[in-house]
Amino acid sequence: MAPTPPPPHVLIFPFPAQGHVNAMLKLTELLLPAGLNITFLISAKDHRSLSGYANIHTRLNSFPGFQFHVIQGLYEGPLDSAEKLTIMFDCMSEKTTLLLRKLILDSPVTTCVIADGIMDFVLDAVEGTGVPVFSFRTISGCAFWAYFSIPDLINSGELPFQGTNMDELIVNVKGMEGFLRRRDLPSFCRSGLSNRTLQQVSSISRRALDAHAIILNTFDDLEGRIVSHIQKHCSNIYTIGPLHAHLKSRSLNKSISSNSLFEEDKTCIGWLDQQPPKSVLYVSFGSIATLTRDQLMEFWYGLVNSKKRFLWVIRKDLVSKDDDKLPSELENGTKERGYLVGWAPQEDVLAHPALGAFLTHNGWNSTLESIVAGIPMVSWPFFADQQINSRFVEAVWKLGIDMKDTCDRTTVERIVNEVMEVRKDEFTESAKRMAKLAMESVSEGGTSYSNLDRLIQDIKTMGV
Ligand code: UDP
Repeated sequence: MAPTPPPPHVLIFPFPAQGHVNAMLKLTELLLPAGLNITFLISAKDHRSLSGYANIHTRLNSFPGFQFHVIQGLYEGPLDSAEKLTIMFDCMSEKTTLLLRKLILDSPVTTCVIADGIMDFVLDAVEGTGVPVFSFRTISGCAFWAYFSIPDLINSGELPFQGTNMDELIVNVKGMEGFLRRRDLPSFCRSGLSNRTLQQVSSISRRALDAHAIILNTFDDLEGRIVSHIQKHCSNIYTIGPLHAHLKSRSLNKSISSNSLFEEDKTCIGWLDQQPPKSVLYVSFGSIATLTRDQLMEFWYGLVNSKKRFLWVIRKDLVSKDDDKLPSELENGTKERGYLVGWAPQEDVLAHPALGAFLTHNGWNSTLESIVAGIPMVSWPFFADQQINSRFVEAVWKLGIDMKDTCDRTTVERIVNEVMEVRKDEFTESAKRMAKLAMESVSEGGTSYSNLDRLIQDIKTMGV
């Protein structure tokens, strides 16, 4: 009898930032029970954080085919600007190109690599080994398509912007004519053409076509129309999101929210337990965005003046530069209706019955988590893909209001009240509808469910 071949072995390699590691760990959790062996490449800093704050190790290590490969010596500073992201990107490319080839050539034999699509150097590193690379984009389909369309915007003269009218419509991102304005393009489009991030992002997005396939953490009812434009360039796309909703639906992840690279303050759940249903605004700007002290205070006055209850995540590095101490009025004056934490168990918070709306920077994970929980949004995008996500939240999905480029107390108060009071029924209804579609997509027979199975089967076929 012929010996049974070993299970396929997959290298999973995220960019070292919370949103990226989070999504790719969730994919890992979905692939392991299907019998795939996985080596997960992780920076030493993220590995330390996961070991300290998350329970993911216990779950992953229960699969004998799982291992972390820890990468030492990477940049460990903040990632709150394009320049710092570039430093990390260059450092990653330098430290991991040889490592990847070594891992691929060593045993166990690598069947395929699932690499964060932001790291196009992986395609170069793997070239010639015959190992297929799946490009996993942790951003939305709409942001990926806008990035991909940047050369068309340059050729048509829409980039760089002529004049200053930020509300002028953009016509050369197909499928977004009629609602996409200059201000909704990814933030780096606001600089000149020599901007390195603009050049990098556009070429990286086109490089995805050199990959074996593209994986997107989205679902067809949400972004199918936009994904069909990408499909004209790359026929092999797996839309398998929302990944965290698969875990919920397959009951693989009963204790959710444990991929955190920061220590969660769970006391906020006790506070939420004491609040009336749908009364609380959850405020979080993710793991990277920073505010100036003035912006922090405008948000605070706006929230207090709105008279709504709020739970606000104020990371210790949320306020930029030397403003590391919270203003005393904020700490003292919040007590009446507000609760502050350094880092929240976000998925649990969004699923809590007391939650009424989410003031978010519209990072893609947060956006998907809000959609799955059926929570309307107030959008305040910070950078990159967030500008376009927030436009879709308001203009396409009708899930909330986009307040990008404004940050004054009167606007904050007005928009919070608009979402939580004046148009509450309308937004709650559309959020509920979208949440239902999200859960259907990851249920048996749903598009993301079937696409995830197709991905697993395709990897297994490669391993034969
Ligand atoms: N998150 C969390 N607790 C917080 C704030 C954020 O667990 O207090 C998680 C959130 O659930 C999401 C991730 O951190 O999964 C942030 O990713 P996202 O893509 O939204 O934004 P980024 O941090 O990449 O800007």
